[in-house]
Amino acid sequence: MTRLLLHACCAPCSLEPMRLLTEEGFEPTICWTNPNIQPADEHDRRLAELRRWCAGNDIPLIEAREDYAAWERGVSPIGARDRERRCRACYALRLAEAVRVAEAEGFDHVATTLAVSPYQLFETCNDVLERLARARGLTPVIRDFRPWYPEATRRSRELGMYRQNYCGCRFSAAEAALDRIRLRDERRAAKHRED
Ligand code: SF4
Repeated sequence: MTRLLLHACCAPCSLEPMRLLTEEGFEPTICWTNPNIQPADEHDRRLAELRRWCAGNDIPLIEAREDYAAWERGVSPIGARDRERRCRACYALRLAEAVRVAEAEGFDHVATTLAVSPYQLFETCNDVLERLARARGLTPVIRDFRPWYPEATRRSRELGMYRQNYCGCRFSAAEAALDRIRLRDERRAAKHRED
């Protein structure tokens, strides 16, 4: 088995990468570092769910540093104006810490659960991971887990896991709320046309 540090954004998104990477012959250790998650009780709820899942399945978990001030300095000023730039900066902050831990703890391989969700910026996320890992002489393990997102949703519901409905930051909470309103309005308009 090849040891791998798997940065995790939450428990539900970790389910399928853990299964698939293990089937591939990796031995993943989960790494939590997500100073983007707001408010604090939401952050703590996601972390508590991850801790429960790891403890219940004998999965090693490293809780790495979380620099909330760096997130506010480096990411929040971009705000809602430019999502690609904001998320790139956010991915970079979290994955930089993950690769630092990977190097310090003697891992050669590093991956992330971030791009499991089809709502994430897949290319941007992988580009950030690739650059940061290579800069430290690590091998980024990049896989397209998105086809397993419905299975992750099904399994996490079955396991009664806490499932959030926005990515993490306050901007994403507002964007997700707007998306839900837009979808609701589109459904209502479509129904109105049928009647
Ligand atoms: S939407 Fe998600 S990835 Fe993008 S800045 Fe907010 S928390 Fe970070």
